[in-house]
This record gives sequence, structure tokens and C-alpha cells, in this order.
Amino acid sequence: ARQFTRPLNDLANQWNTLLSAIAGAERVFQILDEEVEASDEGRAGELERVEGRIDFEEVSFAYGEGPLTLRGIRFTANPGETIAFVGPTGAGKTTIIGLLCRFYEPKSGVIKIDGEDIRKYRRDSLRSQMAFVLQDPFLFEGTIRENIRYGRLEATDQEVEEAAKLANAHSFITRMRGGYEARLKLDGGGISQGQKQLIAIARAILADPSILVLDEATSSIDTVTEIKIQEALQRLMKGRTSFVIAHRLNTIQQADQIVVLQDGEVSELGSHAQLVQQDGFYSKLVKGQIELQP
Ligand code: ADP
Repeated sequence: ARQFTRPLNDLANQWNTLLSAIAGAERVFQILDEEVEASDEGRAGELERVEGRIDFEEVSFAYGEGPLTLRGIRFTANPGETIAFVGPTGAGKTTIIGLLCRFYEPKSGVIKIDGEDIRKYRRDSLRSQMAFVLQDPFLFEGTIRENIRYGRLEATDQEVEEAAKLANAHSFITRMRGGYEARLKLDGGGISQGQKQLIAIARAILADPSILVLDEATSSIDTVTEIKIQEALQRLMKGRTSFVIAHRLNTIQQADQIVVLQDGEVSELGSHAQLVQQDGFYSKLVKGQIELQP
């Protein structure tokens, strides 16, 4: 499989840290909600478990007073579908995810969840429908068990271990000295990047959300772990609406829909089979005429 690289710039890095914190520290959000984000409307509601349909309807966005970063973004992700975002660095993929979790509000247009404007709901309620598996998962200082349980705090030990098994993490955990009680240093020092991802997947399985956000790893992970990750991700994604910032052609090919973003606009939208027939960015990518590099 071909791998694309995308070094994260400082901004994206910060954003990643922030996103990672969703899976982890809810308190980060309270701080954010108070200090940075626009307040929820007084009557903002709680979301019951959603089906996971997401509509972007002519969404435009600018950071502050800057130029438009996204223009007229329109797509529909049906419940359970995988939708891959592809495009050069800076095209706006990360920003779309930021809008979906309401870090920011569109300048114009509407984002809907199960047909309702996401602004109707409290941010924490919206985010509780989502789980995140990012390139560099957020792990905190504590035991492996605690780190997985962060997905759902009331989960039993047995549920934590079942999630770890589904995530292909159980075997490496039980081989560690201390097993589930092994303590991780801040940011998961002591385990590999791939193992961190397996823990993040276990956490997401435990959270059991309708919506997933995946930022595919670009760093090289050993083949055996990579196969475990891919297999675990397939289990995790089944039945959930998954938004994937994709860097690998084989991941992209398997998506139900591919959204090609260029310079803040959707330039192509369709399945792999549809897009390879167009003589656009995607077919060039598949033919190896374009590399997704900075
Ligand atoms: P991608 O994920 O496709 O690489 P991004 O969504 O990260 O693209 O970035 C889209 C554009 O928005 C880029 O030009 C980037 O520099 C800009 N951008 C991203 N985050 C911010 C921010 N917090 N403030 C201002 N500009 C930003």
C-alpha cells in the first residue's frame, strides 16, 4: 500500500492535541467552552443516540477575519458510511472536522446531524456521539486500564478487556509487566506508536459512538502492528459513520464516498469507481501522478 505523508504544522498539531483531549479530558472542553467557544444557546438540547447521518449544506468558513478557508462545502454521510477526505495539505480537511465537532461555527450554511442543525445541541452532547482515533492518540499518565476506560468511565474491568480484545490490544497488554495495571507515562511513553493506536481504538470501541473521526497515521508502523490496526479499525468502523482523513490509497478506495478537497472546495465527490473515471485530482493520485505531500 502506498503511503502519503503529511507533516502536521503547528496549528494542526495543536488542533490534534485538542481533539485528542476529547477522548480524554472532558475538562479541557469545559475550559474551552467557557473561554474560547461561543456559548451554547440557552435552550440547547441533549442528543439521544443518533443514527449518524451528517449533512454539510453549503458550508463556508473563515478563521477570524481571514479569507474563506472552506467554500460551499456540500456532502451527505449516511449512517454507517465511511467518508474519506483527500486533498493537499491546507485544503481544509481538518477544518471540516473542527466544524463537525463545533470547535468553530460556519460563516454560512448549515451542518446537520440526523437532519437537525447541530447548533440545536449542547457541544458536550454532540461530542459524546463521537470518538476519535488520531495519528498521535492522547494518553495520560495512568494505567492502561484507566486509559482505555476513558472511553466510558462506568465500564467494568471485563468490558475494558473485551474492548481491548476487539482492538487487538489485549495480547500486547498482557505481555507487558503489570498487564492492564501497567502505568503509562504522559503521552504513552514506553509503548510504541502503533500500540498507542490500538489503545485509542479500544477506547473508541468502549465508547461505542455512532460517529467516528479517524486521522490515519502517516508515520511508519511495523507491518504486524499495522495489520492489527487495520483489522481493529474495520471492527470499530462497522455500523458507524466514519470520517477519515486518509493518507493511504487502500483506505481511500474502500470508502463509500471520497470527498476531494482542493483549496477549500469540494472538487470531486463519489466512490473510487466513479472518481477514477473522471480525469481529475483523484485519478491522477491513483495513477501516481500526484503525491499527497506538503
Ligand atoms: P488540511 O487538514 O487539509 O491540511 P486545514 O484544515 O488544516 O487543512 O487547513 C486549511 C487552511 O486553514 C490552511 O490554509 C491553514 O493554514 C488554515 N488554518 C488551519 N487552522 C487555522 C487556524 N487555527 N487559524 C488560521 N488558519 C488556520
